[in-house]
Amino acid sequence: MKKSTTLLVIGGGAGGFFCAINAAINNPHLQVILLEKSAQLLSKVRISGGGRCNVTHACFDIDELSRKYPRGQHFVKKMFHQFGPTDTINWFEQRGVRLITESDGRMFPETHQSTTIVNCLLKEADAHQLIVKIRQDVTEVIKLENGFMLTTVSGEKYPADFICVATGGYPKANQFSWLEKLGHSIEPPVPSLFTFNIPDPELSALMGITVNPVSIAIANTKLQEKGPLLITHWGLSGPAILKLSAFAARHLAEQQYSGTLIINWMPDYHETSLREAWQQWRQEKAVQKIGAHPPIAFPARLWMYFLTKAGIDADKRWGDLSTASQNKCIKLLTHAEYHFKGKTTFKEEFVTCGGIKLNEVDANTMQSKRVPGLYFCGEVLDIDGITGGFNFQQSWSGGWIAAQSISQETEKKSH
Ligand SMILES: Cc1cc2nc3c(=O)[nH]c(=O)nc-3n(C[C@H](O)[C@H](O)[C@H](O)COP(=O)(O)OP(=O)(O)OC[C@H]3O[C@@H](n4cnc5c(N)ncnc54)[C@H](O)[C@@H]3O)c2cc1C
Repeated sequence: MKKSTTLLVIGGGAGGFFCAINAAINNPHLQVILLEKSAQLLSKVRISGGGRCNVTHACFDIDELSRKYPRGQHFVKKMFHQFGPTDTINWFEQRGVRLITESDGRMFPETHQSTTIVNCLLKEADAHQLIVKIRQDVTEVIKLENGFMLTTVSGEKYPADFICVATGGYPKANQFSWLEKLGHSIEPPVPSLFTFNIPDPELSALMGITVNPVSIAIANTKLQEKGPLLITHWGLSGPAILKLSAFAARHLAEQQYSGTLIINWMPDYHETSLREAWQQWRQEKAVQKIGAHPPIAFPARLWMYFLTKAGIDADKRWGDLSTASQNKCIKLLTHAEYHFKGKTTFKEEFVTCGGIKLNEVDANTMQSKRVPGLYFCGEVLDIDGITGGFNFQQSWSGGWIAAQSISQETEKKSH
């Protein structure tokens, strides 16, 4: 059967494959061609989640789910009403890939191998006669009266009726110029999901310690997060830091990744309430040595760090503590200041904040509001989530929605 309508998907990542496969499933009359600039398909899926691929997150309340996206909250909400985590789970399950949920809600293939996801997608692509071409770097898309003409860096030309741009996040603004030429505007890209470099040898001596929860704020802003914190040999990491880096991505870029973090190591208290509790502990623990009896279950090394910084002898008894030392320790526990300079990429998952402006794209179809027939999905859009499977989820959702809309348009064309 001659296929008279062509969809060209640009980018062989999660979003691109999901759009291409679902479009081919929906509409056998559609010729689907996927162009990937590198020599490897689905390269991020392969390395994702430390090689296990955190496919999605077991969060089924759409309002709650959308709050995991520092950029694109309202847009993703519309997307998830059409295709959310339950649909992702079912889609893979129908193809023999069962996802399991970890205690924190992250979902992985039960094999704990990202290749399970890669192989599933490649098998589906094959089963539905997708034409997949690697080493095809698209440099230009021209809108014609009827359809589009694409050009690659090596000068190859591809005509298309529909295009889906699924090129992922570009770290530099000038990489978007071929999309700007099509009439779209860009939120400038900056990194999200990173850890903070803190040149403080006393702190880094505590590497490997996790404290849960702490509350962390960026000084002189309203940006703050609460959750587990991990001390590393270069500074601070862990879920609370990554979340803060995501919600503060633009602010931190403007400040050139330099500033002050304020940590409350005992977030159930603030300075005044801790002082009150402290009085009680002094009475209860009066004869106990402070070094061996922290007020809450701090790791011993961390508690010693606070005592040393506050100038308190670990052998001192709670009852003998001077008010000045006590106040210094309370200040350190509730309002410790750390100067950060620079960031370190979180190897498990990082994303780009910024991309195609969302007010130029219809969340119900993923179609451009400026150029009919042009679709977007995945990280190329100004959408990014925190860690936990949220970034892939929005790519699956966008790919699926674009595929539905393209299929409907193809149907219309063929009548
Ligand atoms: C190390 C790492 C681990 C991650 N782990 C997770 C995780 O476990 N869970 C999660 O939810 N998210 C994770 N992420 C984020 C997630 O990988 C991305 O959000 C997701 O891959 C975005 O999918 P995408 O299809 O939009 O883009 P991508 O996966 O980046 O795919 C885009 C593709 O387009 C190609 N391309 C770009 N420009 C062109 C062009 N002009 N012509 C042709 N092809 C082009 C690229 O080469 C690329 O292959 C991780 C990210 C990283 C870096």
